[in-house]
Amino acid sequence: MLIKAEHLKKVITSILKAAGSDTTEAETVSEHLVTANLSGHDSHGAGMLPTYLSSIRDGLLNLNTPAKLISDSGSILIFDGQRGFGQRVAREAMEQAIVRCQETGLVLMGLRNAHHIGRVGSYGEQSIAAGLISLHFVNVTDHPPVVAVHNGADARLLTNPICFAMPGTSQTPEVLLDMATSKIALGKARVAMNAGSKIADDTLLDASGSPTNDPHVLFNNPPGAIKPLGAYKGFGIAFFCELLAGALTGGGTIQPENPRHGSIINHMLTILIKPEHLVDRAWLHDEIDALSTYLLKSPLAKDADADIMIAGEPERRHRAERSQNGIPIDPNTWQELIDVAATVGVPRQTLDFFCP
Ligand code: NAD
Repeated sequence: MLIKAEHLKKVITSILKAAGSDTTEAETVSEHLVTANLSGHDSHGAGMLPTYLSSIRDGLLNLNTPAKLISDSGSILIFDGQRGFGQRVAREAMEQAIVRCQETGLVLMGLRNAHHIGRVGSYGEQSIAAGLISLHFVNVTDHPPVVAVHNGADARLLTNPICFAMPGTSQTPEVLLDMATSKIALGKARVAMNAGSKIADDTLLDASGSPTNDPHVLFNNPPGAIKPLGAYKGFGIAFFCELLAGALTGGGTIQPENPRHGSIINHMLTILIKPEHLVDRAWLHDEIDALSTYLLKSPLAKDADADIMIAGEPERRHRAERSQNGIPIDPNTWQELIDVAATVGVPRQTLDFFCP
């Protein structure tokens, strides 16, 4: 089924309010999830709600909890997300870091103990909107591992995403590289499983360490694993996400002595840069325009699977198409939303009313 973004937002907001979030928190999370769907990242959209509701039920996600500034040394800020809704606490921490960066030109911001912060690109978009460049390194704890190390047969890491964001110019759109350091994000396997589809070759290992295309292996017991992106290179970047986001923020890494209660806790290290402190903005824009034009004009390779794009372009195209035609929700995900709504007393009729 295809659902209009504004209808899906109402469904999610009503479920979150019924679960106990105040209106602002419910709307912030809902906006984030639906923007992920609009951007083509269904892995981080409405389909995350059952996971969030189960974290709330298990006392692993604290509702109506703000980001708390625990250390401020000028251009270095550390926040504790206090297991609050990640979409809320990460947004709040970014807002404060952006204000500081406008004064100092450079900020290093650590956020520890946020419940799942969702699509990391959302925080890159916050800095882009403020005219700033940002780099984000994220790790995941409190969850059983799902990603193998390079040449390893079992899961030892999670999908540790990175995001790099650069404001656009009058001619070149903003650049937003936002990706897991595993071959696919875990949510993409959930989406494929719900849709009854297979995963591409050379992406998954089953519980015995053998290659498979079946996304169910990640949700079985014992579980399989997703391979790291780009073999040892992705493994190396994921390791640095553990060090930068996990160890340097004080949140902790995936090492087995840290707790694994079964929720998703994110820790994020963010670097914010005000470009005018380094170079003249007009010159920078000329360089961005010239570089982008040069790269986009490359002739297409014989085995190209798409036209040449710069990071952020696929999401823009998805947003244009899905804003117009609606967001596709598969029957299993819709049923999961109906079921999860019922657990907090939102009847099926409410979902049908919002999504006619
Ligand atoms: P992906 O593989 O779909 O896309 C990654 C990036 O590649 C995007 O910046 C996109 O613009 C770019 N891209 C895609 N196709 C391209 C092409 N043909 N040419 C040029 N650039 C292209 O993303 P993913 O790794 O599946 O991650 C999906 C989402 O999951 C992200 O938003 C990420 O932040 C999120 N995530 C979050 C967590 C968490 O713990 N919070 C963990 C993992 C992933």
